[in-house]
Amino acid sequence: MTAGHPFSTQLYIDGRRTDGSSGREVVVRNPATEEPVAEVPDASVDDVRHAVAAARRAFDEGPWPRLAPSQRATVLLRLAEEMERRLAELVAVNMAEAGSVRWLAESLQTSVPIAHLRDMAERVLPAFAWERSIEPTITAGVGISQGQLRREPFGVCALIPAYNFPFFLGLMKLIPALAAGCTVVLKPAPATPLESLLLGDFADAAGLPPGVLNVVTGGVEAGRELTTHPMVDLVSFTGSDTVGRSVYAQAATSLKKVVLELGGKSASIVRADADLDGAARSALAGITVHAGQGCSLLTRTIVHESVHDELVERIRAGLAGVVVGDPADPATTMGPLISSSQRDKVEKLIRTGEEEGAQLVTGGGRPAGLDKGFFLEPTLFTGVGSAMTIAQQEFFGPVGVVIPFRTDDEAVGIANDSPYGLSGGIWSADTATAHAMATRLRTGTVVLNGGGGGVNPRLAFGGYKQSGLGREWGEFGLDEYLQTKAITWAAR
Ligand code: NAD
Repeated sequence: MTAGHPFSTQLYIDGRRTDGSSGREVVVRNPATEEPVAEVPDASVDDVRHAVAAARRAFDEGPWPRLAPSQRATVLLRLAEEMERRLAELVAVNMAEAGSVRWLAESLQTSVPIAHLRDMAERVLPAFAWERSIEPTITAGVGISQGQLRREPFGVCALIPAYNFPFFLGLMKLIPALAAGCTVVLKPAPATPLESLLLGDFADAAGLPPGVLNVVTGGVEAGRELTTHPMVDLVSFTGSDTVGRSVYAQAATSLKKVVLELGGKSASIVRADADLDGAARSALAGITVHAGQGCSLLTRTIVHESVHDELVERIRAGLAGVVVGDPADPATTMGPLISSSQRDKVEKLIRTGEEEGAQLVTGGGRPAGLDKGFFLEPTLFTGVGSAMTIAQQEFFGPVGVVIPFRTDDEAVGIANDSPYGLSGGIWSADTATAHAMATRLRTGTVVLNGGGGGVNPRLAFGGYKQSGLGREWGEFGLDEYLQTKAITWAAR
């Protein structure tokens, strides 16, 4: 099973590699070629239970939660070093299983999460307030108490990421969980398990105690077991809002804490005074980055009517230069969707857009000459009303919609006319007005004039409305994996 791979594709439970007990294997396919990349064991419910039991033991009896934060930081730094040492391998695996083009595989998919890991170990952990004392206080004549507030690790965590950014999404959960002193079971998405399974190698090399990190495979059945298991204290899930609702309900039976990072339909508002080249580049990115398979991509462009036609022309010209194909070819600028079912879903929604009267500016079909792989043309719709299905539902494919507006109030209203609230953008030369509008958007992130282009670990990431609950990255991410305990005593 592991033939041809320098790393193990087995499950990682209690510090050991195992094929698990199901006897079944799952083939991971390259979405650009449909060729097998590897076979991995399909974890059984029993395997998931063993992983949870190992994480429970490591939490209740093992050293990890009781180490000083500086000791955990040392291990996290060793993890980062090991990831950096094997970066080329990670990039290759990411390109093969997720279909990323090289620049994306080298940046957001791998190097950015490793930078977050370093930041947690080097900046956040040393400065974090784990304890603080509370001054003596008279409470309505009941007595004088004083005490201490302590932050303690939450417990055993089930980490369930989506398929599109397998290493990034896994690490956005794993980094704060480990930093907090939690123990975890990570279950990657069935289409992209390899980068998570590779984490077992990194954990061994970094000297993470057995049971602190466990990695299993599987789909709905494994996910259900993890989110209902009585020994799991916290579930952190990234995926669709539909599955997110199931996860929330499943976890409710044993009142687990739940962090949800869900879908988006994020808007970019382009005012009349905007830098239209920048705004067009951003709209182009919203359609083409990872073939539109990004939760926070800006896929609704809301543009002032006076610059509508000019902006649409710039986006169209940009899309004409996109080279769709196998990411293994350096000329490729946009790769495939993850699977034929994901492509079917996107194509169905494109047809709905046409039926509802939106106009296709470009795209809408499959690119010529690509017989293998789950490719779609980058696609742009105009003549879109905010109530249309294609303005409301997430494509998770290479499709953008353009909606015109007249006043700033109308633009904010259209941007907020969504069940989601993950991200957003505003383009304007008037930065004070742009900032004031940003405060009115009901989303977890707003990027002004394209932002800095980076993914800064000092920010917080997460959704308003049906884009989720809780935050990831840096201190805010760490906070989710901590409990607060008050220890009090009588003041003298
Ligand atoms: P998905 O919801 O289909 O699956 C996500 C994960 O849930 C997978 O690991 C899957 O095996 C597991 N799962 C499925 N059913 C389950 C159940 N009943 N109980 C527990 N686990 C279960 O999502 P996907 O297709 O992998 O990813 C695409 C979606 O993810 C999009 O909606 C996208 O917007 C969202 N996403 C959100 C973010 C974010 O940070 N907000 C980031 C990336 C992707």
